[in-house]
Amino acid sequence: MVKVFVKESAYDYAVLRKDMFDMMAAIGESSSVRISAGQRVIIKPNLLTSARPDKALTTHPLIIKAAVEYVLEKGALPQVSDSHASFTKFPRLIEECGIAGALNGLPVDIKEFTVSKKVLSTRGGKEFTPASRYNTLELAEDALEADIIINLPKLKTHTQMGLTLAVKNLFGCVVGRRKPQWHFNLGENKELFAGLLVTIYSVLRPEINIIDGILGMEGDGPGTAGIPRHLGVIMGSSNAVALDMAVCRMLGAEEMSLPTNKAASDMGLADEFTISGEMKYVENFIIPTLTSMVFGPPFARKILRNNLTSHPKNIEGACKLCNECVKICPAQAITNDAKRLHFDYDKCIRCYCCIEVCPHKAIRVYQPLALKSIKKISKVFHTR
Ligand code: SF4
Ligand code: SF4
Repeated sequence: MVKVFVKESAYDYAVLRKDMFDMMAAIGESSSVRISAGQRVIIKPNLLTSARPDKALTTHPLIIKAAVEYVLEKGALPQVSDSHASFTKFPRLIEECGIAGALNGLPVDIKEFTVSKKVLSTRGGKEFTPASRYNTLELAEDALEADIIINLPKLKTHTQMGLTLAVKNLFGCVVGRRKPQWHFNLGENKELFAGLLVTIYSVLRPEINIIDGILGMEGDGPGTAGIPRHLGVIMGSSNAVALDMAVCRMLGAEEMSLPTNKAASDMGLADEFTISGEMKYVENFIIPTLTSMVFGPPFARKILRNNLTSHPKNIEGACKLCNECVKICPAQAITNDAKRLHFDYDKCIRCYCCIEVCPHKAIRVYQPLALKSIKKISKVFHTR
């Protein structure tokens, strides 16, 4: 049976290095995966945007360092890579996230995923449909051609998907602007997006997955609007879906409430698992609740959608008109008239990429009054 390993840990490198080495060895033993001399190993952290480690936006540099040293100890060739969401140049991002400093002097390749390759979404040589709707994907060539993938997500909330964990972290293997393009294609349909994420996972199948939950994020993550929260734990598995399920359990979230877990279950990829180590249950973890309520007769849909769905809203005074959100928006729903931003909610697909990239916490998730009232009423009925 699949194992999920849990270990209390800290960003004290002597402690963390041992905990990471032990966990990577245990995951290898549990799945009979060996990292051997000469193998090319991709280490895939969450490098969402340029931010200091204490902001909890990105995988902590010491977690990455421990993985790199483990790979080097095996005589293999580590490469740290991601395709990030912001417009900061990759070398500057690596510097500002503390990764360049942490890896200084180590023989490791640190480079952005830039080249895509088309791949059939097959598993074990068999066509992976109809459970998956995606026959062909374009993913980072380096990840597809690696001998081993070590997936190092950050434990964070996500305003569109609830949480971003191990499966969601692999979306960073979609290169550059293809990411927002997928958001645009799939709109606010979480089920479709989750199906895409699980299909990407089924193709890449990282051998080692360890989530950085020492300093996690709650609230309106995964960007600067989220709130860092100390959880003091790393968790790992050879199976990213089992790891995500175990994290949900730890946070008190219903496992199938995470769209990727549900999609994985529907696709036959949610294996039974056992916990190895002492699970630390977290109380009152704030997971954003988002609604997707596109319904009603066609003539009324626009009004219903704009009054009964959450949407991004600019925070007066906080916006520096830097245009990061304008550039990332896959639906071209944001315009800047040099005095303020304007959102076109008919175009907006509620992907919340704008919140992820805003460096000034100047956009929040807004719930219209009608939506709040409906939620209150339904709460009253639920508690009766
Ligand atoms: S305005 Fe924000 S939430 Fe809406 S489509 Fe653009 S990036 Fe996505
Ligand atoms: S909302 Fe944020 S990202 Fe968008 S222009 Fe203002 S400061 Fe820049």
